[in-house]
Amino acid sequence: MSTDVIVVGCGPVGVMTALRCAQRGLSVVAIDKSMEIFPLPRAIGMDEEIQRLFQNAGLEAELAAVSTPIRGAEFLDVAGNRLVGLELPEGTLGLNGYPPMTMFEQPGLERALRAAAVAAGVQMDLGVRAISVENARDGVSLTIADEDGREKVLEAPWLVAADGAASTMRGLAGIVLEDQGFDEEWVVIDTTVVDPELSLPRMAQQICDPKQVITFVPGHQKRARWEFKVHDGDSGESLLEKTRLSRMLSRWVKPEQVRLDRSAVYRFHAVVADRFRNQSIFVAGDAAHQMPPFNGQGMNSGLRDAENLSWKLALVCQSKAGVGLLDTYDLERRPHARGQVQHAADAGRLINALSLEQDVSTEAGYGGGRPFPHIEAGFVCGDHPMVGHPIAQPTLDETRLDDLLGEGFALIGNRTDQIEMSPSSRSMWDRLGSKYLDVRHPMIDSLRPNGEIIIVRPDRYIAAVTTDIDTTSARLEAAITQ
Ligand SMILES: Cc1cc2nc3c(=O)[nH]c(=O)nc-3n(C[C@H](O)[C@H](O)[C@H](O)COP(=O)(O)OP(=O)(O)OC[C@H]3O[C@@H](n4cnc5c(N)ncnc54)[C@H](O)[C@@H]3O)c2cc1C
Repeated sequence: MSTDVIVVGCGPVGVMTALRCAQRGLSVVAIDKSMEIFPLPRAIGMDEEIQRLFQNAGLEAELAAVSTPIRGAEFLDVAGNRLVGLELPEGTLGLNGYPPMTMFEQPGLERALRAAAVAAGVQMDLGVRAISVENARDGVSLTIADEDGREKVLEAPWLVAADGAASTMRGLAGIVLEDQGFDEEWVVIDTTVVDPELSLPRMAQQICDPKQVITFVPGHQKRARWEFKVHDGDSGESLLEKTRLSRMLSRWVKPEQVRLDRSAVYRFHAVVADRFRNQSIFVAGDAAHQMPPFNGQGMNSGLRDAENLSWKLALVCQSKAGVGLLDTYDLERRPHARGQVQHAADAGRLINALSLEQDVSTEAGYGGGRPFPHIEAGFVCGDHPMVGHPIAQPTLDETRLDDLLGEGFALIGNRTDQIEMSPSSRSMWDRLGSKYLDVRHPMIDSLRPNGEIIIVRPDRYIAAVTTDIDTTSARLEAAITQ
């Protein structure tokens, strides 16, 4: 095998997967058909869990340089009255230790990600396209071709297909998308404010005007995005003529007050792959799920795929866990992504209900209206309400929890020398490179009122909260010994 993992697609999800695999000691080849970072407007909002992932990937400063926390989101009627909303006062931090949502600039962040991946040892081959694959239980042979048609074969035990919405690899792997019932065309316009006197809202807004449904999103620093729903009978490309774009924006700005950076017409879909793995190929990111951007969760969901898969691939490639652990990728990530896709599609339905049908009774599906999905089955155990959720990240004596947890598993209990367990449990956790920690903080204490042991996974999700460490260890071990 020429490498441990091949990643097809160097968008944010492919590069994060490659980076996290390399940081965990794997050899990785990542390829992309394009030499350039995708030039059209796309992700702009990053949630707190993914900001924490950037911290753990060593890219906190790079993210801070291209991002600004948002102050909330609201739905407005035509007269500007708030129908539904969620305000985030300045300085609000979520349980992960970061602002609930920060607005960033995708191309800048992708450049930082790529540089980090190369520095971590990822072999990044740009300008080569994946064209065919032989996929078997014991690995893949991937044929790639450069721009002159010269072909080469790469072999690896595992391949991650992160080649975007129109994924070639998904089809080659025999994985199909299932429709969740949303299909709308929208025009997206990215701008930079050039008039220092112009003041735009600091919250995202859905303007529920039956004549023209509009989303406004304040971006990083002076950037601002508008999205306009294309109504029936309107046609695609002519919508992007400059005079027409200026007319669309005229409710907010005069043409000379902003620079038009990028614009595109997108079809917003809601689809999820019927499985996230076939033999040695995994799908991740837009290749596995696509959703309308109303909750800003497309890339965030893809980066959850990246982190979920990379620690499992590392343990399997390093023979610390059996291949059965990789079955938990589909078990954990597919229902979670389905939940996100449904939630995003429902936010779109809410916009339509509020603006076109004047129906304020529709379930919000936005902001805090519905619980965030969590991992219900996979490498998790027990019925504690926080199992399958990320553990909170408090700061203890100026050290953040994740800096104590390290890169692998962590068992948090009363005085580490008193985490008593059988030799076989101890040997399993030692084999997985676990840390044993005593952490005292109200956010952690509240999770273990009866002195339970918290088992934290490398992706910071809680695998179990238990007073019976031996039974829990045995149940979790069953998932990793096959
Ligand atoms: C208007 C809009 C707003 C959005 N806002 C948000 C937001 O606020 N928050 C959020 O989280 N998400 C948002 N998203 C979604 C987000 O942009 C995507 O989910 C994310 O970019 C997908 O990343 P990816 O790495 O999976 O795929 P991509 O970024 O599409 O990368 C796929 C890569 O694969 C390469 N490739 C394709 N085929 C091959 C092949 N055969 N061989 C080699 N390489 C190949 C492509 O060149 C590309 O570089 C938004 C999307 C849109 C359209």
